[in-house]
Parts: sequence; C-alpha cells; structure tokens
Amino acid sequence: MPRENIILRCTECGDENYIGTKNKRTHPDRREIKKYCPKCNKMTVHKEKK
Ligand SMILES: [Zn+2]
Repeated sequence: MPRENIILRCTECGDENYIGTKNKRTHPDRREIKKYCPKCNKMTVHKEKK
C-alpha cells in the first residue's frame, strides 16, 4: 500500500502539531482537518504539509 508521511499544520499559528501517515489511495487529495492546537488552545483547521 502506498503510504505517505504527512505533517498537519495549524492554519492560525503555523505550528506543526501532528505527524502521521495517510493512504494515498483512500485520501489522494490534500485535506483540511479540524484538530486541537495546544498553542491556540482550541480547535483549529490543520492543513497537510509536505
Ligand atoms: Zn495553532
């Protein structure tokens, strides 16, 4: 299975909060995900960064 390392970056403060992998076949596009950011201390939109 083709897997790709991704970094999820907070769009509000720019911090890189989450690192993981995604399956290219099931998630071929860049996604925006709402996740908790400890710096902003709230849920923010995180974008995938390569
Ligand atoms: Zn943030």
